[in-house]
Amino acid sequence: MSLNIKKIGVLTSGGDSPGMNAAIRSVVRTCAFHNIECIGIYRGYQGMIEGDFKEMGPRSVNNIVNKGGTILKSARSVEFRTAEGRKKAYEKLTQAGIDAFVVIGGDGSFTGAEIFNKEYKFPVMGIPGTIDNDIYGTTHTLGYDTALNTVVEVIDKIRDTASSHNRLFFVEVMGRDAGHIALNAGIGAGAEEILIPEEDLGLERLLESLRKSKASGKSSSIVVVSEGDKIGKSVFELKDYVEEHMPEYDVRVSVLGHMQRGGSPSCFDRVLASRLGVKAVESILEGKSNYMVGIINDKIALTPLEQAIKGETEIDLELLRVSDIMTT
Ligand code: ATP
Repeated sequence: MSLNIKKIGVLTSGGDSPGMNAAIRSVVRTCAFHNIECIGIYRGYQGMIEGDFKEMGPRSVNNIVNKGGTILKSARSVEFRTAEGRKKAYEKLTQAGIDAFVVIGGDGSFTGAEIFNKEYKFPVMGIPGTIDNDIYGTTHTLGYDTALNTVVEVIDKIRDTASSHNRLFFVEVMGRDAGHIALNAGIGAGAEEILIPEEDLGLERLLESLRKSKASGKSSSIVVVSEGDKIGKSVFELKDYVEEHMPEYDVRVSVLGHMQRGGSPSCFDRVLASRLGVKAVESILEGKSNYMVGIINDKIALTPLEQAIKGETEIDLELLRVSDIMTT
């Protein structure tokens, strides 16, 4: 273990996700385990610039493993995007004696960390925290599993209404650039059709699929739509289009929105957060820097931040086939 690192900072940045608190707890307790001081940096990079720091001991993170959101708060900092802002952040970190930091966030937060590392040779480590699961170098980001469970639970409830009234529901879920939530939750909740950014189904095929489903004896349907689906119409425009062409359907829309980001993390996310936090701190103590800690084939793996930022995640095409077969 490195003798040079005595104090590690931890921050959450960008959008919050369930499991961030469990990751903070893990970083804090791993530091305590190795007799390293840990400093909580509040409000993401903005708090770093302003020196909004607080010492964190192992007891300061009691009872947070089960809590959604982030006790350190999160923020989007415009100032950190400027060289001047980052200089202020560096000054605050060095004044406080912080030798390295762990940032829990998405690719924007990693970009900030990577630039900062290049400018100041400051050791940084990333933990992927976003419900979208759109980060290269990890099969799961923190919060993704919880979000899937939340979405499935809600769609199950919507299905009760859909089947009681013979309705067609368009359910919009998060995922501007990646359809992981829509695809997996859609299969899990038994959706008749799933629209994702990675596949352009086209309006005609959507109608065709709905007609087929109706002809096969289904009286109600659920279509899960990712925010960034390729058809290019908003979920409300889709409703209008289908109503116009299939007047026999009573169509409704449900936009799940921010409820997908909240809630108590699933067991999977809590265990993942604990594992990632341990690896992040121990990697810093081994002298590593500028990596993201992720999980691949159930093994904790380091990916250079640059790759994690630039790399694209891919959806599992086999899942599309499974979804098609399930709607037979
Ligand atoms: P989410 O997945 O929720 O969007 P994110 O980490 O990608 O999370 P961003 O808002 O993109 O969220 O980034 C978080 C913060 O990281 C920004 O507010 C900014 O302070 C910093 N950041 C992002 N991009 C850069 C950049 N190019 N240079 C410096 N800092 C950056």
